[in-house]
Amino acid sequence: MNDILELKWRLPLPDLLAQIGLGAHAKRSAPCPLHEDTNPSFSAFQTTRGWRFKCHAGCGEGDEIIFLEKWRGLSRGDAIRLYASLAFAPGAWGFDARPPRPGNTALGASCAVPSLGARGAVRISLPADAHEGDEHELRTLACLRRVSFWAVAAMKQLGTLRFGTVCGEPSWIVLDASLRSAEARRLDGKLYAQTTHLGERKVHTLRGSAKNWPVGLLPERELGAHFKRILLLEGSGDLVAGYHFALGTKGEWLPATLLGASVSRLHPEALELLRSRPVRIIPHCDPAGAQASERWTKELISAGCHGDVVSLQGLRKKDGSPLKDLNDATELHPGDADEFAQLLS
Ligand SMILES: [Zn+2]
Repeated sequence: MNDILELKWRLPLPDLLAQIGLGAHAKRSAPCPLHEDTNPSFSAFQTTRGWRFKCHAGCGEGDEIIFLEKWRGLSRGDAIRLYASLAFAPGAWGFDARPPRPGNTALGASCAVPSLGARGAVRISLPADAHEGDEHELRTLACLRRVSFWAVAAMKQLGTLRFGTVCGEPSWIVLDASLRSAEARRLDGKLYAQTTHLGERKVHTLRGSAKNWPVGLLPERELGAHFKRILLLEGSGDLVAGYHFALGTKGEWLPATLLGASVSRLHPEALELLRSRPVRIIPHCDPAGAQASERWTKELISAGCHGDVVSLQGLRKKDGSPLKDLNDATELHPGDADEFAQLLS
């Protein structure tokens, strides 16, 4: 109970609402964020028991935790877990994962040949305007990928997501907090235009990326007690979906992703980290995905890692077509929900 009081002290309702992008509702009278509301039915107010909310149109009332339960449809346990992670953000998992800002002297060397020996050295070239992303950008991405705002907010907090201009286009960038690997995609979902060297493409790998490093993997001290298992995925789209499905589940998964099915010979330091926890691979449902998962499994086993591979095969989208990758599960057929839930149990 003291823990919950501490959380409430750290992140009272108005701050919680601001942090999840609902700051405009942190008033005595505002439209309710829990239902389609054209009237100001919602109220946030302080009592002797702390902050409370109430929706006069029937969504109910309660404290910060009850708000999260209703907002995300969570169990009480999961709502507390989410609240705790928000209350301690960006140090939610006991650290601040922000990569150095562009323009730092460390980034001046971004064009230099990456030095493999330099642990933690900056290796990728981020765009000059790379930034963490404001609420609008996070919402745009969540909408584009059909995932929760919380999923992309968590990526931002853990340092695996940035925004910036890539090839002249506003883009979202998944990157490793250690700045080993990054790829960008357009924020409008369109393709990058052809250049002299590159064809039209949906993703643009940033120069200096080491593709054999799983993006999103955290150093051991930061994996800590918070992430018990690792979800190894393929591509930036599935990383976002991984956060959407995994965070807040009891599995305590950390999603990480390899940027392409052709990746082989995983980075030795990555293998070292992967050895510390069970790894579950969810490959794409195509021949390249199947080959990749077979190859990665072999590498993981020979490095002394343990885990399993689960398949999306047989699962359908709402329209009845088969799931091709984890991101497709954001449009999962309701009849396959139980089977899908097993994959992350
Ligand atoms: Zn309401």
